[in-house]
Amino acid sequence: MTFATLGLIEPLLRALETLGYQTPTPVQAQAIPAVLAGRDLMAAAQTGTGKTAGFAVPLLQLLTMEGPKVSANSVRALILCPTRELAEQVHASVAEYAQNLPLTTYAVYGGVSINPQMMKLRKGVDVLVATPGRLIDLFRQNALKLNQLQTLVLDEADRMLDLGFSEELANIYRMLPKKRQTLLFSATFSDEIRQLAGQMLIDPLTVEVSPRNVAANTVKQWVVPVDKKRKAELFVHLMRKGRWKQVLVFAKTRNGVDALVEKLQGLGINADGIHGDKPQATRQRALDRFKSSDVQILVATDVAARGLDIEDLPLVVNFDLPIVAEDYIHRIGRTGRAGNTGEAISLVCADEVNMLSAIEMLTRQTLTRKMEQDFEPEHRVPDTDATGQVVKKPKKPKKPKASGGGKRNLGKWVESGEVSVAEPSIKPVRKVPAFNTGPRKKK
Ligand code: AMP
Repeated sequence: MTFATLGLIEPLLRALETLGYQTPTPVQAQAIPAVLAGRDLMAAAQTGTGKTAGFAVPLLQLLTMEGPKVSANSVRALILCPTRELAEQVHASVAEYAQNLPLTTYAVYGGVSINPQMMKLRKGVDVLVATPGRLIDLFRQNALKLNQLQTLVLDEADRMLDLGFSEELANIYRMLPKKRQTLLFSATFSDEIRQLAGQMLIDPLTVEVSPRNVAANTVKQWVVPVDKKRKAELFVHLMRKGRWKQVLVFAKTRNGVDALVEKLQGLGINADGIHGDKPQATRQRALDRFKSSDVQILVATDVAARGLDIEDLPLVVNFDLPIVAEDYIHRIGRTGRAGNTGEAISLVCADEVNMLSAIEMLTRQTLTRKMEQDFEPEHRVPDTDATGQVVKKPKKPKKPKASGGGKRNLGKWVESGEVSVAEPSIKPVRKVPAFNTGPRKKK
């Protein structure tokens, strides 16, 4: 299959050729004809699958072939993204795809002055990429009209909901013309996403290019169990041992990002961090420097790192596991992109066992554990598997202090009820709750 057989016009084919796209990815093969046919779309596509071109390329074709010239302060296609970085990145891709078309494109997001954005919108923009909050600000200040809108794209819709944008999305929904095409992209389909789709989409075509909630299989993943307080030391050890060149590291909190960056910089390691507290310009600079390999280690929170496309990123390290299991899929999707292979290593301490279990259940795999010599944890990480079980090894029964009892397997006796728990001379090794004695009831 080629892009030409999908019915794309020559200026788009030329742009894709310039970018070195030879064959459509699976999501593109399904989404492009559907969008060209005017269908609403609900697409589950992992990051790195080429989903941006999947919606942007046919959308640009429709804007070129159909509809009026854009009026002042109007937009004809709106792409909503969860973060500023993603908005910038999607806009950069859209601009590349549109390089041979007579269309204007622009991105707006918070954290920077609104005035230049208002000026830019005066003449109207064919494709606007926006974060929800700033879009609403611009609308309320009459800098933006949506009555010419032909197509709405919700990119990384699950993430927008995770970040608490559901109210903003409901507000935006009320601002939209009824007649429009809507395309919803999400790495995962949760019940909330299906509900949102029910409100916003009409008879959508569902595109699911990879098994639901399964992480990219081009990424080799494993876990290194370690005590919490030794994670930074282990990270530096693994980095030196593996001669890591470019690593994206995920930490749970803003403080966690700052602490690790400080520690690494203190050791003379070329590291920088991005999180939501840092000004937009600083975040962008850190990201650009990482992309150009001027920074070796970029430490980020989930919010800041969402959807970043960094070419050929070989390695992602989860310094902390994410609280929301689905974020694991997004994190490791930063590597192994567009057919490359990648590695994702998670440093996991005993406190994180439930998160590990949730990830294994979601991705339907038991992650391989590799113990690192001299870093074996004092606080053991209990065994887990893809069924969601956290297997706690039973403690060895203590030797009874009983005076004349000799060796007895107390645990078994107590469970089978052969020994009265109340017997004064023998203490039970563990309490056996009443429900253990009868058949288990289904919840
Ligand atoms: P995305 O999932 O949209 O973030 O795309 C991931 C990466 O794949 C980006 O670097 C794209 O430029 C690249 N890409 C998208 N589609 C293709 C294609 N058909 N052939 C080669 N690379 C592609």
